[in-house]
Amino acid sequence: MSPTSKVVAGSSAARSTRNIIDAALSGERLDEPDLLQILRCHDRDVWEICEAADEIRSRAVGNVVTWVRNQNINVTNICVNNCGFCGFSRKVGDPDAYFYGEDVIRERAAQAREREVTEICTVSGLHPGFDARSYVQVYSWLREEAPGAHIHAANPMEVAYAARKSGISTKEVLRQFKEAGLSSMCGTAAEILVDPVRKIICPGKISTAEWVRIIEEAHRMGIPTTATIMYGHCESVGDRVRHLSILRELQDRTGGFTEFVPLSFIHMNTPLFREGKARAGATGREDLLMVAGSRLFLDNIPHIQVSWVKLGQKMAQMCLMAGGDDIGGTMFEERISRGAGAQNTDYLDPSEMQRIAEDIGRVLVQRTTLYERI
Ligand code: SF4
Repeated sequence: MSPTSKVVAGSSAARSTRNIIDAALSGERLDEPDLLQILRCHDRDVWEICEAADEIRSRAVGNVVTWVRNQNINVTNICVNNCGFCGFSRKVGDPDAYFYGEDVIRERAAQAREREVTEICTVSGLHPGFDARSYVQVYSWLREEAPGAHIHAANPMEVAYAARKSGISTKEVLRQFKEAGLSSMCGTAAEILVDPVRKIICPGKISTAEWVRIIEEAHRMGIPTTATIMYGHCESVGDRVRHLSILRELQDRTGGFTEFVPLSFIHMNTPLFREGKARAGATGREDLLMVAGSRLFLDNIPHIQVSWVKLGQKMAQMCLMAGGDDIGGTMFEERISRGAGAQNTDYLDPSEMQRIAEDIGRVLVQRTTLYERI
C-alpha cells in the first residue's frame, strides 16, 4: 500500500457500498474514503455502482452521447524527456524520429479544414530546439489555415518547458499562446498527481504543485482545460483517489475544467512495462469503476469522456453505461496511443459512434470542444 492509500483509508470509518450509493443519489458529496471503497469494489456491487453513476449521468446531461470532430497534429515525436509510460517519443537521430516544418503543419491544418473538423489538437514531444516562440508560430499557422477550428493544444508540461526555454513566466507563455490562437488547453501531463508516483513514471515532468498552478493560471486567464488521469500502471487505488480529489478541489476554485478524461494505461511498447515497473494496464472492472467512480465523486465536472482510443470501442460502450456521456473525437491521425501499442486508433467514424450510442438507447449529438451542441 502506498503512503497515500494509508492516509485515505485511515481518514474515517468506511460505510457500506449501498450507503455510499444512496448518499450519492441523494446529492451528497462523497469523500475520499467513499471513493476508495468504490474503486476497491470486487464483487457484484460493481453493477450497482455503475447503475448509480448512469442515473447521475442521466440527471446531469440527459440521454445523449456527445462527440467532437477533431484531428491531431503531433508536430514532433522528438522529446527531451524519457517518461516510462511513453511509446511515442524518440531522440534526434532515431530512424523514426520526425519533425514537421511550417509547410507540413499548414498542409495538415488545411486538410483539417477540408475535413470540417471543429477542433485541432496539438500535443507533441518537447523538442530540444523549441521555446515559447516555436509554439506561438505553430498556433498562428493553424489559426491562419483553419480559422474556424478551435485550437485545443499545449499542456502544463509544454507551458512550463516553453517558459523555461524562453526565460519567461508561465503566465506570460499562456498570454502569448492565447494571443496566437490557443482556444483551450489539454489537461494531460497530469498522469497521477502524486509526486512519488511521478518520480517513477515521469521523473522529468513537472511536479503536482506545478501542474495545478499552471492549470489554475490558465483557468483564471479564461483558458478552459480538460482534466485527465492515466491509471493502471504502478499507482495504488489511494493514489487515484488523491488525484481525483485534487481535481475536484481545483474545479471548486476555478470552474475551468470542461470534462474529465480517464486514460487507461496502454502498456505494450512502454519502457515502464518492459522493465517490470508497471502492470499490464487496468482490468475491465477497473475501467468501469474509474468512470463510475469519477461520475459519483466529481460532482462539479459535468462531462466524463470515455476514450475509445484507450479502451477500445466495446469497452468504451460499457463505460458509457457506467457514467460516461462523451465518446471523444474522430481523432484523425492519432499517434500517441498507437506508439504505446494500441490498435485501430486512427479515426472513428461518426456512423460507428451512432451505432454504439443507439445500441444503448442514447442519442448521438455532435458538440464543440466546449460542449455546445452542433
Ligand atoms: S509523455 Fe510527452 S514529455 Fe513524456 S516522453 Fe512522451 S512525449 Fe515526452
